[in-house]
Amino acid sequence: MARRFIVEKNNIKNIDANTIIIDGSEVKHIQVLRHNVGDEITINDKIYTISKIERDDIELKYVKDAPIIGIPKCNVTLYIALLKNDKLDFVIQKAVEIGVKKIVPFISNNTIVKLDDKGKKKREEKLQKIADEACKQCGRMDIVKVENIVNFNNMCNLVSNNQCTLFAYELATNSLKNQIKNIKEKSYKNIGIIIGPEGGFTTKEADVLNNIDNVNCISLGSRILRAETAALNLLSIILYEMEE
Ligand code: SAM
Repeated sequence: MARRFIVEKNNIKNIDANTIIIDGSEVKHIQVLRHNVGDEITINDKIYTISKIERDDIELKYVKDAPIIGIPKCNVTLYIALLKNDKLDFVIQKAVEIGVKKIVPFISNNTIVKLDDKGKKKREEKLQKIADEACKQCGRMDIVKVENIVNFNNMCNLVSNNQCTLFAYELATNSLKNQIKNIKEKSYKNIGIIIGPEGGFTTKEADVLNNIDNVNCISLGSRILRAETAALNLLSIILYEMEE
């Protein structure tokens, strides 16, 4: 299959119905991979033939839409606290491979990572790049959006966009099995999962989450998992169950 490149809309200029010119970082990537005029490559979800290669931009002719592969049948949004060091990088890369649809990083009371606006923007760009690279590597034809970092209250507002949201809470007694049975019976296709920071949620935060209509807290068992383990564990279980 023609190698895939993910190009932002503002780096694509439509010349006519069948011709585009792209610029930006992926042009360098295409050149480094020694692609030539006549080669077929995939830009986002369409296959093109390279018709001209300049130093800073590449002209391409449309061939056909790329086959849609690797897109999960169920949209899972991972709401996850900012984690220390490169743990969140790891979670995002693996979550994309497993099939997450969207990622919303948040800051809560016990989040250890503190970022100013400049640091947030830098982090958001890096996390989106990791998601894009993971999409290309695993052959997904869709884009996984990493949303801007939000605070706890904003995250609580966002979860109402999901039909059902599972809040992974180590003090919960509700079984995940029952929640998944409920999700399957209602054929939900837009599910959220919430994972807290290394220091966990405060009792007050847990109460706020538990009082949101479509949020159900669930236990992932008697062991305390690292946030990154909990995220990938819960995501895998849900996508396994919902991909039948
Ligand atoms: N409060 C934990 C402790 O006592 O060490 C710290 C939080 S844990 C490292 C990080 C996150 O993973 C939690 O906020 C929760 O979302 C999730 N998590 C970890 N173990 C879990 C479990 N057994 N059941 C449900 N969620 C769990």
